[in-house]
Amino acid sequence: MKVGMADRIEWAGWHKDSCDDGPGVRSVLFLQGCSMNCMGCHNVGIKEHGKGRTNSIEELMVFIESRCDNKKITISGGEPLEQANSLGRLIHRLKEKGYNICLYTGWEIERVPENILWHVDYIKTGSFVMDLKNPNIQYVGSSNQHMFSIDNGDIRELDLTQDSIRKTIQKGKIIGEESN
Ligand code: SF4
Repeated sequence: MKVGMADRIEWAGWHKDSCDDGPGVRSVLFLQGCSMNCMGCHNVGIKEHGKGRTNSIEELMVFIESRCDNKKITISGGEPLEQANSLGRLIHRLKEKGYNICLYTGWEIERVPENILWHVDYIKTGSFVMDLKNPNIQYVGSSNQHMFSIDNGDIRELDLTQDSIRKTIQKGKIIGEESN
């Protein structure tokens, strides 16, 4: 597969009914390939591009729609943003169908393309850092990683230790803090 062909996407697997991959009970789609080299990578078996399954976006939509009853999906990897063109199209189609979308990326939020960032409901950012591994934080593996909710042009960082919201960010810029 030629990475970046917008009508095709390479993926590695599907996991139903996860409570660990974003808020709520979610199905997880793992995209194939990641060029980052996090020590202690939890998905080392799907890092290599070209070793996964390749389908058109519409074929993958049929697969997803037959399995994701509650329409809550997390797209993980691998590194989904290494297939940004295809991912953008997939997210567009999922949004059209009314899905709640959570994206897991190792990239920092500033690097996420706007046509993707503003069309997901949640995004987990940052690479896994073994020295910062913390099993007491929801949804992420290490304390340098962040989870944001995105709604109507506002980005809010979730406090994963208290399940509360602590920062309000608009268009990528912190504009205020909320205390709980
Ligand atoms: S970003 Fe994820 S898949 Fe890629 S090396 Fe790091 S832990 Fe592994």
